[in-house]
Amino acid sequence: MSKYKCLIFDIDNTILNYDACAASSLKALLEKYDIQYTNEIENLFRDICYKLWKAFDLNMLNDESIRKNYHQLFDLYNYKRFEVFCEHMKYSSLNDTNPKILSDEYIDIFNTTRIYENCAVEILKKTSKTHILAAATNGLSDSQRKRIQPVEQYLSHLFISEEMNCVKPMKEFYDYMLHKMNLNNTDCLFIGDLYTTDIVGALNANMDACWYRANGRNSENWLEASTNYDENIPVIDSLDKILDYI
Ligand SMILES: [Mg+2]
Repeated sequence: MSKYKCLIFDIDNTILNYDACAASSLKALLEKYDIQYTNEIENLFRDICYKLWKAFDLNMLNDESIRKNYHQLFDLYNYKRFEVFCEHMKYSSLNDTNPKILSDEYIDIFNTTRIYENCAVEILKKTSKTHILAAATNGLSDSQRKRIQPVEQYLSHLFISEEMNCVKPMKEFYDYMLHKMNLNNTDCLFIGDLYTTDIVGALNANMDACWYRANGRNSENWLEASTNYDENIPVIDSLDKILDYI
């Protein structure tokens, strides 16, 4: 008999490898414009994204006004990074390209570029036979629904912050999930890669959590990371290791 009825997975860098999807999408976009994709361009784009993410305060999820405006800011960020990117690429064939068009094209490619975390699909498939599965993400509805679509068959529930008007780690987010699934906090295990959102949110809701930290990943940089980790939280470096905890 399993300890939990339900497993709730974060999406980005837990089910889908966000970084690999982003790099692959940029490469495909630039190929459309006959621009050769290089490490320099990949680093430039990542650097722009990182700086703007912070400039838009999207890392400040402990700030109430940011939480309230998170999805408008996210939309604005999506566009603005291409405005800055085009400025840097003005000596290329991107000169004269409208950043809004470029941003839309990128998002279309990104929404259908699905590179999964190691053994993510196998684990979803396997655990869906024994557990209720859900995915819970801070993100934009249209994009997240399209990206997760190929594995949606394994998920009984999909919780997207834009549709819920609250974000992880707010307690409301976790309470909403439990209410919708008609489950108690002790029925669920939350699995995610970001301590500050996924794990802190679960702990605030008195829900067990498992921290997925793939080797070499430092996604914590994208948030105001806590340095105050609860050492009782199990850490796994590969998703198949959750089988030891459920
Ligand atoms: Mg994540």
